[in-house]
Amino acid sequence: MSTATPQKFEFQAEIKQLLDIVIHSLYTEKEIFIRELVSNASDALEKIRHTQITEKDIADDQLTLEINVTTDDKAKTITIVDSGIGMTRAELIENLGTIAHSGSKQFLKALGEGGAKNSNLIGQFGVGFYSAFMVAKGVKVYSRSWKKSEPAHVWTSDGSGSYEIEEVADQTRGSRIVIELKDDCGDYADEHKVKEILERYSAFVSFPINLNGKHVNTVQALWLRSKNEIKDEEYTEFYKFQAHAFDEPRLRLHFSADAPLAINALLFLPKENTEKMGFARTEPSVSLYCRKVMIDAKPKDLLPEWLRFLKGVVDSEDLPLNISRETMQDRALIEKLNKVITKRFLKFLEEEAKNHADAYTEFYQEFGIFLKEGAAMDFAHKDQITKLLRFESSLTEKGKATSFADYVTRMGADQKEIYYLVGPNRAAIESGPYLEAFKARNLEVLFCYEAVDEYVMGNVREFDGKKLVGADHSDVKLTDLPKAEGSLGEEDTKKLTSWLKETLGDRVTEVKASDRLVDSPALALNADKFMTPQMRRMMKAMNKEGADSPTRVTLEINPRSAVMKRLFETHSAAPEKAKLVAEQILDNALISAGLLDDPTSMVARLYKLLETV
Ligand code: ADP
Ligand code: MG
Repeated sequence: MSTATPQKFEFQAEIKQLLDIVIHSLYTEKEIFIRELVSNASDALEKIRHTQITEKDIADDQLTLEINVTTDDKAKTITIVDSGIGMTRAELIENLGTIAHSGSKQFLKALGEGGAKNSNLIGQFGVGFYSAFMVAKGVKVYSRSWKKSEPAHVWTSDGSGSYEIEEVADQTRGSRIVIELKDDCGDYADEHKVKEILERYSAFVSFPINLNGKHVNTVQALWLRSKNEIKDEEYTEFYKFQAHAFDEPRLRLHFSADAPLAINALLFLPKENTEKMGFARTEPSVSLYCRKVMIDAKPKDLLPEWLRFLKGVVDSEDLPLNISRETMQDRALIEKLNKVITKRFLKFLEEEAKNHADAYTEFYQEFGIFLKEGAAMDFAHKDQITKLLRFESSLTEKGKATSFADYVTRMGADQKEIYYLVGPNRAAIESGPYLEAFKARNLEVLFCYEAVDEYVMGNVREFDGKKLVGADHSDVKLTDLPKAEGSLGEEDTKKLTSWLKETLGDRVTEVKASDRLVDSPALALNADKFMTPQMRRMMKAMNKEGADSPTRVTLEINPRSAVMKRLFETHSAAPEKAKLVAEQILDNALISAGLLDDPTSMVARLYKLLETV
């Protein structure tokens, strides 16, 4: 029963403009109006909780602090009720008729800065209360202030330029917002749909939300609680709920920071790397929240690409504050968040590697590929990430890995560079011809088994001021070893190398006696530093130009090897047979280098050689 007649008001000009955009926008995710109204309800409850501490005389002080959402599928309405602080008549006019408040003001500013056609802005900032008009024919706001002397009112509008305010009886403290849905928005009166929306955006609101009498937000915003109060099972339950995951989290990082930004974050590493299992590229899925209300489920730039395997939540109070102070500075803000979180996460991994080496190893086996991607591509964090990389080496046992830092501690005083070899596995590298020179000189070589490693090493370039050098690169300079007994003499070696160059012709750029071979007869070194075998294979796979140009290598021979001594004898005695042997030695060297593209001619030649046995 109203005691006064309804009074009509015009909306402020800016609000008219805003309503016009909202009502006619083609923004597809209209559902965010629920998020906006629920967070307003939550704000109002937060305010009454605060007021209850500072004030004594509060209307309906016994009310439970909660949010009740009801849907009426027949009447096509959705109603959102809170027992919060409520609004007086003056506050209804001030808050819902003018543009004094944060969210919508921000929206209008952004529009002014050239966003007029970008209906996505609605989703980014929310347009607060007015988003209701995306779906509403009419909105009624019943509200009663906490101040006992203030009567309750209903605010009514169809969003077309004016609103009415009238006094009402029968309204307890708080607000009741009744939305009469447009004909094509009737599904927001469907309980299932609304439940889904509440769970998506408002799952962590601190006050109970009941939908048609049933409690829907049962999971807590764990990230805001103190670490030592939370049990492992709670973390696991939260992970499964938030990340829609079925596994148990492998590791977690729960932290907060105050400067340079207020951040509460709870990050999870899943058990398995689904990309490795052959599933599609993982989408970044750490969600961005502001005070428990979701802003974006999959923000693109919140974390660097290579951290796309992380799950969890980042909550920053500074988000809306900063946004309203410096319009459209949200990019810079997200970048700041990105920096802080990435640094913190890398520090966490460093600690894990130090304190829980086994768990780190397991993590690395599964997710190391992402770290490699980061080391190669994320220039800002390269040094920190490089410390986290692990490789087997000529000094580790099979299956045990070492870090660059540990490698450096084992380097001799004369060693200036860090050596590595790329190959399909340990056995292949150990039996290839490249390692022996390093072994003979007690130089450690890192073993790289993944196709991307050559690229990663090339991009990382150095560690602790020491260059990373492929042990099969032609410009590696090694110290002299004492001359072994039973070697071909210098003269004979010279004769043999020039004969080999002549015989092999264009297939080699140079043939020379090797200072690095100990047991193997010969090895091939890339003449072209930039076209590594891995690179060639990649280019071939991509059908790139240059991949088919004939491989030209430097052939290094071992004058101590029995094969070479024998070849020296044969090359004058039986030049035809010696030619076949020379070709075969080159092919063998190419195979070890991963450079032999087509083995068919080699097989034919081998049979010819076998005939002569
Ligand atoms: P914002 O929430 O960013 O301030 P909104 O458009 O969502 O902007 O809301 C405008 C204002 O209306 C709020 O600041 C608040 O003062 C008031 N308001 C909205 N909903 C409620 C509510 N349920 N209870 C009390 N006040 C409310
Ligand atoms: Mg709001």
